[in-house]
Amino acid sequence: MNPHQALKDQLRQICGAANVHTHDDPGADLSAWEQDWRKRSRGHALAVVRPGNTAEVAAVVKACAATPGVSIVPQGGNTGLVVGGVPDSSGSQVVLSLTRMNAVRAIDPDNLTLTAEAGCVLHSVQDAAEQAGFLFPLSLAAEGSCTLGGNLGTNAGGTQVLRYGNTRDLCLGLEVVTAQGEVWHGLTGLRKDNTGYDLRHLMIGSEGTLGIITAATMKLTPLPAAQLTAWAAVPSMQAAVQLLGLAHRLLGPGLTGFEVMGQFALSLVDKHYPQQRVPFFKESPWCVLLENSDSENEHHARSQFEALLEAALEQGCVSDAVVAENIAQARALWHIRESIPMAQADEGLNIKHDISIPVSRIPAFVAETDALLAQAIPGVRLVDFGHLGDGNLHYNVQAPAGADGPAFLRDFEERVNTLVFDQVAQFKGSISAEHGVGELKAHKLPHYKDPTALAMMHAIKHALDPHKLLNPGKVLPRA
Ligand code: FAD
Ligand code: ZN
Repeated sequence: MNPHQALKDQLRQICGAANVHTHDDPGADLSAWEQDWRKRSRGHALAVVRPGNTAEVAAVVKACAATPGVSIVPQGGNTGLVVGGVPDSSGSQVVLSLTRMNAVRAIDPDNLTLTAEAGCVLHSVQDAAEQAGFLFPLSLAAEGSCTLGGNLGTNAGGTQVLRYGNTRDLCLGLEVVTAQGEVWHGLTGLRKDNTGYDLRHLMIGSEGTLGIITAATMKLTPLPAAQLTAWAAVPSMQAAVQLLGLAHRLLGPGLTGFEVMGQFALSLVDKHYPQQRVPFFKESPWCVLLENSDSENEHHARSQFEALLEAALEQGCVSDAVVAENIAQARALWHIRESIPMAQADEGLNIKHDISIPVSRIPAFVAETDALLAQAIPGVRLVDFGHLGDGNLHYNVQAPAGADGPAFLRDFEERVNTLVFDQVAQFKGSISAEHGVGELKAHKLPHYKDPTALAMMHAIKHALDPHKLLNPGKVLPRA
């Protein structure tokens, strides 16, 4: 029998026929697994397999490893933005979807930990934590469909990083199936463990290239007693940075969110979702969303916020501000921020960046890079927004008004990426602050990564996955 056919039969034996999808199935439509969220790439899978437990994942890996020429693409919610979780067009890649492994296995309130399977949707993890009286602070706009495994695979950031860190900082232990189909039982929940190399940190952010995460033990924190949101108009990016410093000083650990949004980004929300009332954007080049999470009570949080905004108005780094009166108003403000990516997609194709620069240098970076882009592409529109508190900007480049989107991408994407990434390198930043490298930026990595670091990455990949079974072509470019 043809080895691909034999493998498909074996996968059906391991996971049950209902959990293996192939193009041989009558009326087969594998697009949900083969196409990435941004519709940048459509691959062709040999099969999509959905194991129900860790032993099945290990058996799938062993079966694939024994079939020459086959490789595996781990996939969670398929919300990744860098073409990391979808197969190529070769027809020899098996998509290993973790979505059936979605149990919260345990909550340990005294240890402040939650253990869940990789396919658990982030929102369900947040819910389970809240029901137990805790906060699981990872939060991003894709939380209704992205999975814990994908969050760990990409070391996702989101809106609360400034207080709680990236996914990496929230993880205390992992269960992983290796490229050899062995299971590493590392769900320790320990906060201290200095017994050698920290393999957990190798796996986190490896985008499915070093192992398949099947479960994780994550940190919980107490729910804040009160959470308040404010929206401020700021006259410049420099003023936004000044406001951030003031907020750190006056709110201390209460500062859990600090998002900056440019005027054009907000005008797109106003244009495409006019029912959302966007405050102040017409009069101000930048707006900032701040969140204060207080361990005392709402009155305390409100007076802290008022003191902050008063000081900021006095110093001139804020020209106008509102504090949400209630949860509905706070949600509406966050919703505006979270609608920017969709509004931008509604406006047409664009070139996305998620870069980081030391916060202190962001004003200079934005001024210089805006000018260089305007010079290179007359009429170009910049959709600037992001997590200023972490020095992370979604510095996105939209075609001039009325331009043909696909033609813009074809003619300018490479040039724009090079211009922006060269600027990032000059400012000692990172070309990917949160979305990862995937396939989209794999060819760029050798240019921008320190050569010694890159050599160590190749050595690690070779040691853990010598036969390139796991997600080849992602992160590290194909040889
Ligand atoms: P997938 O897209 O399925 O996979 C992503 C990568 O992880 C792939 O390389 C895949 O092979 C690997 N992977 C998946 N599961 C596993 C596993 N179990 N073991 C090993 N590797 C695995 N990202 C941010 O960081 N911050 C944001 O604020 C943010 N906002 C977003 C907003 C929107 C609207 C969208 C669509 C995406 C956003 N993202 C953001 C990107 C994306 O949601 C995150 O990267 C998310 O963590 C991906 O999870 P997923 O389950 O969808 O993973
Ligand atoms: Zn982001």
